[in-house]
Amino acid sequence: MNPPRKKILIVNCYFPEMREPIKRRNEVPDALAPVLLGGWVSTEHCEVKLYNEVHSGFIEVFQPDLLSWPDMLVMTGLTATFDRLLHLTAYARTANPRVVTVAGGHAVRCLPVYSQEFFDYACTGNVEEIREVIEEALGPAYLAEEFRPRYDLAYWIKRLGYAEATRNCNFKCSFCSLTGVGRKYSAQSADYLESQMDAMGRRLIFFFNDNQLLGDGKAPFRARIGQVQRRREAGQFRYWSGFVTDTFFWDEQNIRLARETGCLSLFVGVESFDDSMWLKSVNKKQNSRMNQVELIRRCVEEGIIFQYGLVYDPTIQTLEQMYHQLDLICEHPEIPAPNFIFMSIPFPGTPFFHDRYEKGLILPNTKMRDLEGSTLSLQPIDPVEDVVHFIRNGRNFRGYRSRFLRHQAKFLWH
Ligand code: SF4
Repeated sequence: MNPPRKKILIVNCYFPEMREPIKRRNEVPDALAPVLLGGWVSTEHCEVKLYNEVHSGFIEVFQPDLLSWPDMLVMTGLTATFDRLLHLTAYARTANPRVVTVAGGHAVRCLPVYSQEFFDYACTGNVEEIREVIEEALGPAYLAEEFRPRYDLAYWIKRLGYAEATRNCNFKCSFCSLTGVGRKYSAQSADYLESQMDAMGRRLIFFFNDNQLLGDGKAPFRARIGQVQRRREAGQFRYWSGFVTDTFFWDEQNIRLARETGCLSLFVGVESFDDSMWLKSVNKKQNSRMNQVELIRRCVEEGIIFQYGLVYDPTIQTLEQMYHQLDLICEHPEIPAPNFIFMSIPFPGTPFFHDRYEKGLILPNTKMRDLEGSTLSLQPIDPVEDVVHFIRNGRNFRGYRSRFLRHQAKFLWH
């Protein structure tokens, strides 16, 4: 006799910095974990639904009926979403007291012991841990016989096909949430990457959702690119994109290989153009070995879009230094505009957190939901109101309008 069908809802939680029910329809990169988690669930004995709050907004606002639907609610999200995990758990249990709640991702890894209090399963492992949870909570019959990622349910994944080839990072920057968790860089098998590419079908851009594509040497990197290239040649993808670090650009062969295999853009954590002291202090020395403007030039000259972010540490860097970085961008037409400018975040568990905590620099009443880079959570050197003004205006280049437009025109012409 067949076991009764079970309903499983997998949610990527999101708490936007403005704390409003917004939908971010064009976020890149976007969530992959629900797709992978869903891949371990039996399609024969379960009905699975995916929901992404980045793309679709707060679930209780935009699809409240979903909260009473599942027998099992699986939640994942970045560190700042911890409160959302609590909200959804409360909503789902109110609607259905028998629902099994499962939480994982960075938010739970960051607070592994505290999390156990709130969820039936607080998972600190990789996505595969869902197998043990399903087996224990529902029974082995509800496990997929074969891993098949659920791109078919990921309504937010359209032209970009996200997949992962590696996990974690080979660097240990002191402010990074990955450093806080402390997992080793690990390359996944070629078969794992193939199964994701098989399941995602044709996409305009294949996107490596890894933290660092070149973390285990050139040969594995070439092998990964080779897998994607074979599918490009067969017409499945046109371009690829992904995350690397400065080290990628040290060797021009890497950039050439990327161009020859259809790399459209690379995402890089530049953090700071000129503060080698700060980069050293946060153990990101790899970003000060070579001039970052020169590395950007190498990338752009090969026709690859350079996408990057800057991070300011208001406990060490003055507002003058922050504005100086904006001046520097406006003065160099070869530097594209940053994709984001964040304030450094004291993620619990990181060396950066412990240092700022011991120095009494974490602002009172800082909440988990504040740890998203747009909310000031550290005591700045400059007056708080001036730094808040910078966060609200300067980092969006407000006040730099004409200079910035001139810069953009020169960059495009460059
Ligand atoms: S290189 Fe990037 S992903 Fe790796 S530890 Fe540093 S900040 Fe994190």
